[in-house]
Amino acid sequence: MSHYLDYNATALGRPEVGVAVADALALAGNPSSVHAPGRRARACLEDARAQVAALAGTSPENLLFTGSGTEANNLALSGPRPARILASAIEHPSILRPAAERPGGFALIPVDGHGVVDLGALKALLAEPSDGPVLVTVMMANNETGVLQPSEKVVEIAKQAGALVHIDAVQAAGRVALEFDRLGADLMSLSAHKLGGPKGVGVLVKRAEITLAPLIAGGGQERSLRAGTENLPGIAGFGRAALSALAELTGGTEIERQRDLRDRLEAAIAAATPAVVVVGGQVPRLVNTSCLAFPGVAAETLVIAFDLEGFAISAGSACSSGKVEASHVLAAMDLAPGLASSAIRVSVGYATTIQEIDAFVAACRVVLGRNAGAAALGVDRLPA
Ligand code: PLP
Repeated sequence: MSHYLDYNATALGRPEVGVAVADALALAGNPSSVHAPGRRARACLEDARAQVAALAGTSPENLLFTGSGTEANNLALSGPRPARILASAIEHPSILRPAAERPGGFALIPVDGHGVVDLGALKALLAEPSDGPVLVTVMMANNETGVLQPSEKVVEIAKQAGALVHIDAVQAAGRVALEFDRLGADLMSLSAHKLGGPKGVGVLVKRAEITLAPLIAGGGQERSLRAGTENLPGIAGFGRAALSALAELTGGTEIERQRDLRDRLEAAIAAATPAVVVVGGQVPRLVNTSCLAFPGVAAETLVIAFDLEGFAISAGSACSSGKVEASHVLAAMDLAPGLASSAIRVSVGYATTIQEIDAFVAACRVVLGRNAGAAALGVDRLPA
């Protein structure tokens, strides 16, 4: 029996999304063709745009479909005039890497020990002289800790200084209201697969007045800002996922249910293992995310051990090309190295059940019990 508890990496695909993808795949036309099949494909594309726009809290004409959240973030930084970019230190690599390469200059906005962006430091950076435009980019919620950032304040401060603002809402979408228009940001990124939509499709929301330099040259699709025949099945799936996510946000009890699951998990583990640290636990967080540090136990060991027990979770550190690197997010929070290297992320979603949470807590006993640091954690008190 396997249990999927890694929704922040990617959500389980929603069954209704599969239907929408299959329906779009059956459409013959190219959305740019003028004949009837082309017009049907175009209608499907525009329906999906309206569905995603409703989730983003803006008008459909502000949306550009991209090939991923990563591409949306890259495009957001591609203004024609090189802007000086101020990015929070906990941004996703799809912001930090391109930002560091942009010609207008780049500075990191630090975060505090809870992983919340330091607004005083942002103000100080904005007060520094700059030749050209300035773009502030701060995510709405962090992917590793779930910590919510003060987006409204960031926008307010940036606007007072005459800067542009991009919000990476990839993890926040479907979990908190985005309200792009009300927020007053200039740009916002979303990704379908974090909502239970298909992988490989994203959106950049853009206010009409903002000009960008396309990353891909070719045809005139997406207002000439994203050339290439549109990924219609992916986009239709994105629209359907956005519809379901918005329904969960605005009605029903799904968000509270996920919060209860997360709180149940954290309470059971904290009661039994007093040494556990809930990273970001003192500040507002996404309802579905738990970043747990078990001091003295290597996170990679835990991820593998839980995998063997049938639980998919992830570590707060990235493993690339065989090299395990410390998480830049936890490092930016100045978390003690012993804590950062022992942090795992458990993230739940629409299909997670209470039984899976209880089974995970029980598996903690097995997994931590085998570990050298177990005595210090007091795992004997974990429910069997
Ligand atoms: N931004 C954040 C905060 C993310 O968590 C991710 C994915 O993990 C991305 C951007 C990139 O999205 P995609 O996987 O669609 O490229």
